[in-house]
Amino acid sequence: MIIVSACLFGLNTKYDGKANAHALIQKYSSQGKFIPVCPEQLGGLTTPRFPVEIIAGTGQDVLAGRCMVKGELGEDVTQQFIQGAKETIKIGEMVKVTAAILKERSPSCGVNTIYDGTFTHRILLGQGVTAAILKESNIPIYSEEELTEENLIKLLGDDT
Ligand code: SF4
Repeated sequence: MIIVSACLFGLNTKYDGKANAHALIQKYSSQGKFIPVCPEQLGGLTTPRFPVEIIAGTGQDVLAGRCMVKGELGEDVTQQFIQGAKETIKIGEMVKVTAAILKERSPSCGVNTIYDGTFTHRILLGQGVTAAILKESNIPIYSEEELTEENLIKLLGDDT
């Protein structure tokens, strides 16, 4: 099985109650190899919810207790993000995931980049909290922005 950010799968899990439906994910969804996961919902946050960013750090820093995840007004959702990441790992272990395809720039799912915590759309190199815990667990992570039909077919083929 391959974990896929639920919003890429087409579910309305985004903070604003919308989706980021990805054409290739949708094209191959009937193969039954994707498991859609929204770590922020799994951590107990509501949808819609206020936007948040990792403040001055990366997902690895959040997991290590070095920085927090907050809304623009300082609302602290760090524990929900850590909880959602742990629940995602639990799902990964239960269904023996072989990879994860995740939404770039999300404070949970970002694979290569996240926003920098200033709420000014500036980006930072680094992973979101769930992407970081998946990587630490040696589950290969891929950004939807890097996804081609060729490499998706390969990922599906590797998942036997
Ligand atoms: Fe999508 Fe991940 Fe954000 Fe959930 S936490 S809405 S799956 S990017």
